[in-house]
Order: sequence, then structure tokens, then C-alpha cells
Amino acid sequence: MGAADSHTRFAGILGWPVGHSLSPAMHNAAFAATGLNWTYLAFPVEPERLGEAVRGLAASGCRGLNVTIPHKAAVVEHCSGVSAAVEAIGAANTLIPDGHGGFRADNTDAEGFLRALDEVLADDVAAGEVLLIGAGGAARAVAHAVRSRGGTLRVANRTAARAAELGHAVPFEPAALNDAASRADLVVNASSLGMGSADLPPELPLDGLRPGQAVNDLVYRPGGTPWLAAAAARGARTVDGLGMLLHQGAAAFELWTGRAAPLPAMRDALTAAREPG
Ligand code: NAP
Repeated sequence: MGAADSHTRFAGILGWPVGHSLSPAMHNAAFAATGLNWTYLAFPVEPERLGEAVRGLAASGCRGLNVTIPHKAAVVEHCSGVSAAVEAIGAANTLIPDGHGGFRADNTDAEGFLRALDEVLADDVAAGEVLLIGAGGAARAVAHAVRSRGGTLRVANRTAARAAELGHAVPFEPAALNDAASRADLVVNASSLGMGSADLPPELPLDGLRPGQAVNDLVYRPGGTPWLAAAAARGARTVDGLGMLLHQGAAAFELWTGRAAPLPAMRDALTAAREPG
């Protein structure tokens, strides 16, 4: 897009904080690649002002929103309707104008997760045995995605009670995790382990990983995570967290604009934005 003018439409992301988000780079690249006179902004919104922000953006002609931490669950009560995915996951990441002055809530994280797998792997591993590590918001989206494909879910989480809410719980200790990993077609790290440091988190299973198995780390780091590198060294087929980020954004772009998402431009923008410097 060139300079904004009186026809420029806008979309954006609500978060607190939101300065770390890669979504503005990805979506502005998408608008430029498709020649749309749209722009995408990051809105830092305090939790207690979320309803006010949603109403104000709707009243200002906002064409679409993404929602990130800490608003993904709370935003739902400020929307006029919810998709089946939001109902199942209990959180929204995408808001779409409802045609009546408000927004309806959707969630593209599960769809993004599945598209990222399908892009890299020829077989449908989400329909098989899945070991899911973590039980927070990202894990709930993965659990919904696996169920939608008919997969069997085992869940391991530091707080065991949260794992049991999502599926058949596996103890969060090395022997049980490695045993469950060795029997899984797909192992997913949907916990925050590996996010804060470049070191290999000792809690994540390694000995149980085997050649040909699919391993997906939702944590995204420039150059990949040490756990994913260790899984690849054991012969696993690896999928990194950039794929889900890209594809949840592509699905949101399609909902807002009705156009096919320009994946190469969006992927390039994400890769450039996450490289340091
Ligand atoms: P969340 O709702 O805060 O959940 C965090 C999860 O990590 C919980 O299961 C928590 O366990 C676990 N955890 C946190 N610290 C831990 C530790 N020291 N040891 C063991 N477990 C720990 O966060 P989220 O939104 O689900 O995000 C989780 C991760 O996924 C983050 O790294 C995020 O960046 C990534 N993510 C990626 C994408 C993508 O598009 N690639 C999308 C969403 C999220 P407890 O229940 O015990 O607290």
C-alpha cells in the first residue's frame, strides 16, 4: 500500500502488550501483495478497556481483528456470535464484522495448525495417535483440531488437572512422556517450554522419538528450536511453529477479505520480522 488515504480500510490485533506481535508485518505484506488498500495496526488494549475498544473499533469501520494474550477468552462476551471452533476451544483469535455494527468471533488456530501439518506432511498424522504437551490456549486449539480429524489424544501438562480436562492424561515425567511419545504418530509441544531460552528444555521427550514420526513445536524461534533440531537428528519429520502462525493468519485474511491469502509474501514477511536485527 502507498500512503493511507480516505479509502484505506483497516484491520489489527488487540493484545496487552502487543509490541512483540509479528501479525502487522505478515498482514501488511499480504495487503500489499494483493493490492488491497488496507492497513493493519497493533492495538495495545488494557484488559479493563477491552469491551470499549471492541465497540469503538466496530463503530470506526474496522474490517477485522486478531486477538492475542490476554484477551482471547474475554473478547468472546463482546461479540454478537461465535463459531463452532470458538465454542469448542473457549477462545477467539479472529473477529469479523457481523454486518450489524459489531463483530462475530472465530478461531483460526486449529485450522492453522492443521494447514501447517498438511503443507509439510503427505499423511494425516492428526488422525492418528497424538501426544500433546501443554494444556493452555494453544493446546486447546490443537486438541480441537485433532478431534476434528478423528485422532486419539494423549495430553501431558505440568498441572495434571488441566491435562485431564483436554484428553487422556499422561504423567508429566520423563519415563511416561517418552513412552507416550514412542507410541505417537505426532508429538506436539504446545507448552511454553523452549520459549524463554535457547537451551533444550529437559522436560520435553527425546529418547522416545523415532524415525518417521511427526514432531511439531508450536514455539517459534529464528532458526528453529533445539527440541525440533534434536527430533530431526533422530529422524523425525519436523514442523516448526511458524507454520501455524502463518496459516492462522492466512485463514483470518480469507475471512476478512474473501480473497486467497498470498502465502509466499506472508511467509517472507514473518521470516524477515523474526530474524534479529
Ligand atoms: P498458555 O495458555 O499460557 O499455556 C502455557 C502452557 O505452557 C501451559 O500448559 C503451562 O502449564 C505450560 N508451561 C508454562 N511454563 C511451563 C514450565 N516451566 N514447565 C512446563 N510447562 C510449562 O500459553 P499458550 O497461548 O497456550 O502458548 C503456549 C506456547 O505456544 C507459547 O510458546 C506460544 O508462543 C506458542 N504458540 C504458538 C502459536 C503458533 O502459531 N505457532 C500459537 C499460539 C501459541 P501449566 O498448565 O502447568 O501452567
